[in-house]
Amino acid sequence: MTKIGLEIHCQLTKLESKLFCSCKANYREFQPNTNICPVCMGIPGSLPLLNKSAVEKATLIAMALDCNTPSKIAFFRKNYFYPDLPKNFQITQLNAYGNTSIGWEGKILVGDAKIRIRRIQLEEDPGRIIYEGATEKTKLTLVDYNRAGTPLVEIVTEPDFENPHQVREFLIILSDLLENLNVSDPGLEGAMRADANVSIEGGSKVEIKNIGSFHDLEKAVHFEITRQQSLAEREIEIVQETRHWDDGRKITVSARTKEEEAEYRYHLEADIPWIRINDDTKNQLQVHMPESISSKKERYVSKYGITPQVAGILSSDRYFSELFENAKNETNAKDVANMITTDIMGLLDTREKRDSSKLNAEHLSALIESIKSSKITRTSAKLALDEIIKNGKPLQQIIDSLDLGHVSDEGELTNVITQILKEEAKAVEDAKQNPEIVNFLVGKVMQKTQGKADPELTLTLLKKSLGIG
Ligand SMILES: [Zn+2]
Repeated sequence: MTKIGLEIHCQLTKLESKLFCSCKANYREFQPNTNICPVCMGIPGSLPLLNKSAVEKATLIAMALDCNTPSKIAFFRKNYFYPDLPKNFQITQLNAYGNTSIGWEGKILVGDAKIRIRRIQLEEDPGRIIYEGATEKTKLTLVDYNRAGTPLVEIVTEPDFENPHQVREFLIILSDLLENLNVSDPGLEGAMRADANVSIEGGSKVEIKNIGSFHDLEKAVHFEITRQQSLAEREIEIVQETRHWDDGRKITVSARTKEEEAEYRYHLEADIPWIRINDDTKNQLQVHMPESISSKKERYVSKYGITPQVAGILSSDRYFSELFENAKNETNAKDVANMITTDIMGLLDTREKRDSSKLNAEHLSALIESIKSSKITRTSAKLALDEIIKNGKPLQQIIDSLDLGHVSDEGELTNVITQILKEEAKAVEDAKQNPEIVNFLVGKVMQKTQGKADPELTLTLLKKSLGIG
């Protein structure tokens, strides 16, 4: 049987500062090695001060994943000598003296399968090592410490996955959940990274390290299963080892043998006292926990009559569900939901487009209102939407400047209809036998008025001109 376990590293990107100093958690905007201080550079004599918000956000994750949470947390030093952490140790957590990490024994449901969460811990991210050119041939290795010390949550699962597909489903659920909790922005480069353990038929466990994207994680796991199966078929021993994912060639390659736990010489971090998390704090966090995706979905269906499919799409995306919540009222909720999922999601399908979009909830509710009151047609609404996203002007101004208002002037419409009836003599003949053809003629009127004709009035006038009921 195939067994897959994951270790997911998730940056708490919504925090202001690093885990133990006041440097910015958002290191991405800085020139290399400018978001640093004596604490995150490990200068002797500097002392860490724990970021309280990081503990709270990490605890929120633990609660949302149904974990047990401790009454006291402790930090440990994991010693290793590598240039990405100038202190020569990483401050992390270890359940050595009872459970003192942020959370343990949680779960996530993936369809019918239960994926158990073994442990969640809070730790600091190392800096970034950058090789110039190919790793094997590089003459120059650069290191950027801007990221060193930023808050990271490690989520370790039990080896409960049976195939790469389940891994992917899990990652989608997890990243939606983290986004919904407003603790992380999984779309940012490097915000979520993962290691995977893979074994087949009770054989040795192989660890695949530092896979940079979820897309690659599924591929890496798939590759590794196939590689192990092929060795097993030829009766070649599968060695317990660490392998790296080669992004260019899309294969795993053997790396250094993994350090044993003992080599890290874990010991308690004496510069940070044990921190008590009392029940009051936990209750407060629970009370302020954002509504879960599944309960949002249920509410959208039961309260607003939105289809489960649309409700599912909407609730799993924090940006669009927020837009929905702010634009909806008692009467327009269904229309708002449909416009978001059918029109807006397509127009704002990348994070760059969302960031630069000027559309807000007022625009959206005004747009729905204008369609409902027949001020503009759906076709015109789409044109208006494009403009709003670009320039954010009030809807009325856009309707005026693009001349999107309805043609509901009887005289004007009658002129257009007379012209269409002349051009479509054949259809006019058929319409008398087959009332369906009337819709075709309505379509022609719409075409001629660039979608601006009032549909109901058009139909009435057409029927009158054709002399049918
Ligand atoms: Zn710092």
